[in-house]
Amino acid sequence: MSQYWSKLVHDLDPYVPGEQPKDQRYVKLNTNECPYPPSPNALAAIHAAADERLRLYPDPNADELKDAIADYYSVERANIFAGNGSDEVLAHVFCGLLKHDAPLLYPDISYSFYPVYANLYQIEAKQIPLRDDFSLNLKDFSGKNGGIIFPNPNAPTSMAVGLDVIEALLQANRDSVVVVDEAYVDFGAETAIPLIAKYPNLLVVQTFSKSRSLAGLRVGFAVGHPDLINALERVKNSFNSYPLGRMAIAGAAAAMRDKEYFASTCQQIIATREMTVQKLTELGFSVLPSAANFVFARPPAGNAEALYLALKQRGVLVRYFNKLRINEYLRITIGTDDEMNTFLQILAEL
Ligand code: PMP
Repeated sequence: MSQYWSKLVHDLDPYVPGEQPKDQRYVKLNTNECPYPPSPNALAAIHAAADERLRLYPDPNADELKDAIADYYSVERANIFAGNGSDEVLAHVFCGLLKHDAPLLYPDISYSFYPVYANLYQIEAKQIPLRDDFSLNLKDFSGKNGGIIFPNPNAPTSMAVGLDVIEALLQANRDSVVVVDEAYVDFGAETAIPLIAKYPNLLVVQTFSKSRSLAGLRVGFAVGHPDLINALERVKNSFNSYPLGRMAIAGAAAAMRDKEYFASTCQQIIATREMTVQKLTELGFSVLPSAANFVFARPPAGNAEALYLALKQRGVLVRYFNKLRINEYLRITIGTDDEMNTFLQILAEL
């Protein structure tokens, strides 16, 4: 039936999501979800929102959620844009905030959705190589561009940069939008949100899918100058004016307000990560310094793909990327202590 496809669709190379198996129970360390349940307050809010009001459209502005986020980060409601997962927020960013008269810059090893959106929106892109040690050097992101985007911490490398270098980039780049994708920021990096007061071209994107245990609810958001947020609202209202359902708004807002639960799950994941890094190192792996809820590790025998398959056969799913420069590594999500001990034990046997 592809004779009916547009050329654009023909030429797309869509993102391939990590496996979400239904056939068997795995120790699932492959898509960077949180191993702990959402805040009990979030679950209660979702249940409470599931009543006869579902026949009505939800608040198109998701004000309850924006207020919870604004309160948490000490910014204004007008600084917040909310969408159906940060993937959707990023789609609107690519559509509405990147200029077309110069290339978009992003790291060559980075979130693999960026090239997909660049293709979808026909944006010329230039990939800036990471350094040999996989570090992101923002000094390399120079010259005329139509926008800059990078994750901090980066994925799949897990390495973070400091706010001082992000600020230096912003000082050197005032004519286009700089997007910091902070999907994993809560596990050891510093958010750039305070810098939005000084830099009207900075947009920070975050998600409820990782540190707030709500990947299944699909909520993400962006924080920036009201002018950038207005642009995103214009795109949203030309695409889907009700991106967030009533249950998503209520659940995500309650999760954002439950600061204690959030802090305790993040701390636990960081502690489990440190234990995992130590044990992997003892097994001979080389592990990049991680500020995320996953680690990027090279097995001692350099047999990453074989190891991925052997682990899968033993009931443990990790992520393997068949891509130049990173095909000797495995990306391993941090699970519970029990899950990591199972994984490490199987690894030692293999
Ligand atoms: N940015 C990065 C760097 C990610 O790894 C992910 C998760 N795959 C996302 C954004 C999107 O997350 P979500 O759509 O679940 O908010």
